Amino acid sequence: MGLFLGIAFQLFARPQDRLSHVLVCPPEMEGQRDFFYPAPGQTAYTVDGRTIRSRDVKVELAEVPLLLLRERLSGLDIEGFPYSALVGRAQEELDRLISPPTLSLHPASRSLRIAGHSIELTPIQFAVYAILAQRRARGCGQAKCVGCADCSLEAKAFHDAAMREELRRHILELGVRDERSRVLARWAGAADECFREARAKLNRRIRAVLGTGPWVERYCVAAARAAGSQTRYFIPVDPKQIVPA
Ligand SMILES: [Zn+2]
Repeated sequence: MGLFLGIAFQLFARPQDRLSHVLVCPPEMEGQRDFFYPAPGQTAYTVDGRTIRSRDVKVELAEVPLLLLRERLSGLDIEGFPYSALVGRAQEELDRLISPPTLSLHPASRSLRIAGHSIELTPIQFAVYAILAQRRARGCGQAKCVGCADCSLEAKAFHDAAMREELRRHILELGVRDERSRVLARWAGAADECFREARAKLNRRIRAVLGTGPWVERYCVAAARAAGSQTRYFIPVDPKQIVPA
């Protein structure tokens, strides 16, 4: 049962929790039902015909280092899932963090392809994602970039006529005429609000298809804010994983 306790601990423990193993020396004292700790004074125990003095018994607390998986399963109802499904999810999460799936954009179907899933987006969501994916693909090239100026954009960047032109061009490529004029008219007046709205819906859509977990967040539009500056938006995925359609 100790094995299952350890596995349960790996799945449920929080970062501040610790698993300890109590070691008793000499080891034959471990099975003694009336022994809890070396009692003070002249106490002695008889074990298999041998006398062991209380002061000769040592108790040590050894911390057992473990991989904690609870954080890796965030967003999952861990208490409502069967054990094997939880272990499967944890394994999948680790696999995808170690070797992240590729990301490709498919304008013809207005969809993203990630880990064998096709995520269909609205024209504006697709255009916004395409702009950010392009920034990331041509940005600093660092796998662990947290939103440098080359890889990311501020929401207010869409106030810029040149940026809205880029957005228009992406939508044009999708061949959806009506949407283009209707949607972009709104962006001209409230670009940053429109961008935030598109980002929230985009991320919701990606999570609805891929599920939740840290690996999924690498494909969503993340927000980063350094002290004293505006929030910048970017796609955290390793740029090497962004591949042509
Ligand atoms: Zn960067």
